[in-house]
Amino acid sequence: MNKTDIKSLDLQELTEYLESIGEKPFRAKQIYDWIHVKLVSDYDEMSNLSKTLREKLKDETELINLGVIEERISAVDGTRKYLFGLSDGNIIESVLMKYKHGNSVCISSQVGCRMGCRFCASTLDGLERNLKPSEMLDQIYRIQKITGERVSNVVVMGSGEPLDNYDNLLRFIRLLTDDNGLHISQRNITVSTCGLVPKIRALAGENLQITLALSLHAPNDQVRRELMPIARTYELKDVLEACQEYFEKTGRRLTFEYSLVKGVNDNLQEARALADLLKGHQGHVNLIPVNPIKERDYVQSDKKAIQSFKEYLERKGINVTVRREMGRDISGACGQLRRGFLSSEMKESEGKV
Ligand code: SAH
Repeated sequence: MNKTDIKSLDLQELTEYLESIGEKPFRAKQIYDWIHVKLVSDYDEMSNLSKTLREKLKDETELINLGVIEERISAVDGTRKYLFGLSDGNIIESVLMKYKHGNSVCISSQVGCRMGCRFCASTLDGLERNLKPSEMLDQIYRIQKITGERVSNVVVMGSGEPLDNYDNLLRFIRLLTDDNGLHISQRNITVSTCGLVPKIRALAGENLQITLALSLHAPNDQVRRELMPIARTYELKDVLEACQEYFEKTGRRLTFEYSLVKGVNDNLQEARALADLLKGHQGHVNLIPVNPIKERDYVQSDKKAIQSFKEYLERKGINVTVRREMGRDISGACGQLRRGFLSSEMKESEGKV
């Protein structure tokens, strides 16, 4: 029998669940508070519950907790990278970045990914499975608990395509922003997508105030298709129309992510095409010097090319920043830590045979 995933229930559902097992409804608020505010990882820490109730909950529910497999702390900027173990043996990674405006956590939304972006390490072995809302939440809960510092911003930019795990993502956002829980402001949450048009349109209708980031990476369909297989399914024109709908319905400006790959999308002709493409769109461009992965031969653009690309966009009145690389001393971004770990495990087990 599948046990109830208690950390994925909202307060209303938890109340109904407790009633269904013959408990008083006020217990729900107490338990919700232990899970989502005090962030405890064991029913035995819930000291205002009777032992009988704690035992009953242990029998009938699953309290999802991630185990820390590895923690790396950057000596350069205090960035921390975590490898977390899930109860089925899968492994995911999350990152804590420290900024002046607060602590930001980058979480994974899936184990692996099926979008196939050419430069991305998370997708090399395809999708393993979706993460549950509780598994997304617990990346933040564990990090806040370990550091003892409040997490104020969350970016869903780790492994996985969040809009390919839509229902769980929405439930996660509602739990994370619930004022009975950690109560992180919707405006401090960013969801990054490779551009699943129907899902962007659906998200526009959810009455949320989160920031949507679109992985653009090219100024036209031809270059985009080279880098991102999803561009064969959705044309840029339709992706940008969906983004415009998101802006109109929510009033939230978009972020356009553009990873600069030497000789592929980084010359001034492309900067010009990008400026034209984004004319009339409310948003901000985030240039990301591509993080080379060993399985592909993409190379980071030269500093000079990045600067010229940026200056060109600025001259065209586009709001643009170059993403600062965080935690460079503790292994690359975007699924590379997990991948490094899995392949070293594999080598080890091969060695044993
Ligand atoms: N699936 C989501 C989240 C992916 S990760 C999406 O596609 O947006 C967040 C961003 O990092 C995306 O823009 C992604 O394209 C980019 N990215 C992935 N691997 C990268 C790499 N090796 N170098 C630079 N950017 C990368």
